[in-house]
Amino acid sequence: MKIVLQLPQVERKKNARPSKCPYCKGEVFQRWGTGVRRIKDTKVRSIKVSRYKCTSCRRTFRAYPKGISHAQQSARLKKLCVIMWSLGLSHRSAVLILSVFGVSLSHMSGWRDVQREGKDIQQKLKWRSVRVVGVDGAWMHGKGIMVAVDLGNGELLALAEIDEKEKGAVEAWLKTLKQKHKIGAIVTDDLASYKEIANELELGHQICQFHVRRWVGKALKVLEKELPPEWLYVIPKLQDLINDLPVNGGKVLYELWKEMPGRTTKPDEKRTPLEKLRDLVLRLSKDWESYIEFYSDPGIPWTNNRTEQIIGRVKNRAKRVRGYKSNQGQLLGSLVASQFWT
Ligand SMILES: [Zn+2]
Repeated sequence: MKIVLQLPQVERKKNARPSKCPYCKGEVFQRWGTGVRRIKDTKVRSIKVSRYKCTSCRRTFRAYPKGISHAQQSARLKKLCVIMWSLGLSHRSAVLILSVFGVSLSHMSGWRDVQREGKDIQQKLKWRSVRVVGVDGAWMHGKGIMVAVDLGNGELLALAEIDEKEKGAVEAWLKTLKQKHKIGAIVTDDLASYKEIANELELGHQICQFHVRRWVGKALKVLEKELPPEWLYVIPKLQDLINDLPVNGGKVLYELWKEMPGRTTKPDEKRTPLEKLRDLVLRLSKDWESYIEFYSDPGIPWTNNRTEQIIGRVKNRAKRVRGYKSNQGQLLGSLVASQFWT
């Protein structure tokens, strides 16, 4: 796992004059004195702030050196707080480490840095167009969350406190995401509700083939021991289809289904192994188009692995955080935590 560590530069004094007045965008101003201000940073203790007076609107304004704003913390220190927290330190531990280097900061400042970073990320993501999105549900702090990952760059796109089992809520959330980001296709596991949602929202749909292989493999292993011998040939046939994913697989499966004897047990009775196999064949046939959507678009992966990775990371960070102030705070924190690892 690679960690992206990039800290903003901080300068002691402003080298170039500002180009525009922040109020009226005027371009002519006079120097209006300089001052020295103490700041919080890992290296720089104080900086020079120049004041200017705009000749058009007569207002004065300050020009800060690179990496400095009106805030007490430098951009570098803010980022460092965010990174330390992302790597798993509590805000209190981060403050302790900084104190060793002579920087005194309250743990609440560190918390605010993370929240601000989360809001910045959210803002950046807001209207970006994303073609293919990995979608999955997870549990965090006893609550259901939904995660959407941009499968173009592999980064977290959105997080929401929604239980995956509440189809209506998931659909409404995906509908908004689709509109905002112009999403063309989703990749999910093979929960039946995703298929319906993709249909209703007219989204391309790829079902993660790792999930399919896992559950089909398990089901076939059980059936292998129970089936009448004359139907055993179907098992390697299904395994081959799942492994090769031929374009006409759905049709092949449908033909096979038609050859199999129909159900003889009553609906409330236990299905025979052969009936279970027949239902399995029909289900695979019906879902086949969503197994091979990735053939139609090289931007669609055939598994949802990336989304699961991101969920793992978000959960890992959440596990080590006690006492989030709010759900919103938790979501912003997760957004931040997912950013610094690639
Ligand atoms: Zn002005």
